[in-house]
Amino acid sequence: MLLHALRTEVAATARRLVLSRLVTGTAGNVSAREPETGHVAITPTGLDYETMTAADIVVVDREGQPVDGRWLPSSELPMHLEVYRRLPERHAVVHTHSLFATVFAASGREIKGIHYEITIGGGTSVRVAPYATYGTPELARNAVETMGQQSVVLLQNHGLLAVGPTLARAYAIAEKIEFIAELYYHALQLGSPIILPDDELLRVLEKSRSYGQPAQLQAASAGDREGSTDQHERSRAARRRQQATPG
Ligand code: 13P
Ligand code: ZN
Repeated sequence: MLLHALRTEVAATARRLVLSRLVTGTAGNVSAREPETGHVAITPTGLDYETMTAADIVVVDREGQPVDGRWLPSSELPMHLEVYRRLPERHAVVHTHSLFATVFAASGREIKGIHYEITIGGGTSVRVAPYATYGTPELARNAVETMGQQSVVLLQNHGLLAVGPTLARAYAIAEKIEFIAELYYHALQLGSPIILPDDELLRVLEKSRSYGQPAQLQAASAGDREGSTDQHERSRAARRRQQATPG
């Protein structure tokens, strides 16, 4: 099957969105691009995600022409393609109608920096793209233009769009912004949430670039794990040999 690994990852992300309740029913869609060819693997339109597998994922070329797959692609294909056209470093797109993000989208209100983790989206707030009918080139333009160089944007009266270099990153952004939207919603009930100043959020943005374990430590740890697996496999094989040896 063409792009088997990428299609498997797209299907797994779609199922994960349902499990984490960021997507209900068929509202939302997922895609990833193969950088070498520009081919895009995208969820099919109007099908539930719970049982989705790689075989259900549609492959199109950079113009959206079908390349492989048995279903019609997501109706939001124009929005996904617009992201890939304008943002060469982003290879994954997650679109949801998750509840609290959509509460703000439906009120035309940006999500402000109530928590420093807002910076996961690459800015100090999450802006709202003007409304246009779902699946239209106009919505695609509004979304990508309003998002600019950030990685997430709200779609007025519709939902949320998150992009990233990988599906894991686009998913993490969609999930985190939903959490911050919920937090902001509840804080607004209390009265006057404190919004962090831009200079602090810019400091966090800078600091976040080096957040987490450095690449060389992760690579070393992966090497250790491989080594220990080999060791286990070697001792299992030795036991098998012993058991097979008569006497
Ligand atoms: P699809 O089922 O066509 O992907 O559409 C869902 C959606 O969210 C439209 O905006
Ligand atoms: Zn939608």
